[in-house]
Amino acid sequence: METLETQTQVTLAGAGPGDPDLLTVAVLREMMCADVILHDTLVSAEVLALAGPQAQLIETGKTGFGPSMKQGDISSLIVRLAQEGQRVLRLKSGDPGVFGRLGEELDALDAAGIAYRVLPGITAASAAAASLGQSLTERGRNRELRLLTGHDADGLAEQDWAALARPGAVAAIYMGKRAARYVQGRLMMHGASPATPACVVENASRADQVIRPATLATLPTVTAEAKGPAVILLGLAPRDARTALMEAVL
Ligand code: SAH
Repeated sequence: METLETQTQVTLAGAGPGDPDLLTVAVLREMMCADVILHDTLVSAEVLALAGPQAQLIETGKTGFGPSMKQGDISSLIVRLAQEGQRVLRLKSGDPGVFGRLGEELDALDAAGIAYRVLPGITAASAAAASLGQSLTERGRNRELRLLTGHDADGLAEQDWAALARPGAVAAIYMGKRAARYVQGRLMMHGASPATPACVVENASRADQVIRPATLATLPTVTAEAKGPAVILLGLAPRDARTALMEAVL
């Protein structure tokens, strides 16, 4: 009897936010035996260094901006390599199902009748919140958590601003660097306080991680300081800064 693993030709997996310690054992195992690894630019060098010696590495780009292979070309390449009989690992940063265009690649595999499995990963929001010493949800503060993109195919993304502007709301904004001023404007228009805590976490989990506390008022300028991949956490401050803030209030 064949197991799921032996039937699988393509594995679509999350590499986590960059720290190789945050890879799952399942993904690491697959990296050791894949023939080809197609990875996004955001998959860290430290993670890629764990690939088996047999693995051919192909970078597909997709940093959010900048030059990269077209999505259709990536999907076609995955299908072609699998049809050649290669064991293919499609490695995306974070979790493959969070702003990773996973669905489009699964559609292509389904259309070609190729067996696959999806392995989850730690998404940037989880790593960023952990670095703040904060919980993404908390009883009495927020009963929901939103993962937003600053940009979608049509430009700056529309959101449920009224819900996001409510006190205690927590949201993680991916690809939000160019959208920070727009987000700030929309939230203030919907009544959010300029003092609402926020935080910009750049290179979460990596050696060069930078945590930049902000408020809604300072969000655009603070966000502009980030050079690497950054996730904006709305409604959260680093635990220490929050304690300091509470002390100032008392
Ligand atoms: N699938 C990924 C997200 C890909 S979209 C995930 O689940 O994390 C790319 C965006 O993710 C970046 O623009 C940035 O907002 C965020 N991101 C990815 N890695 C990050 C990291 N190490 N630190 C901070 N933000 C990161």
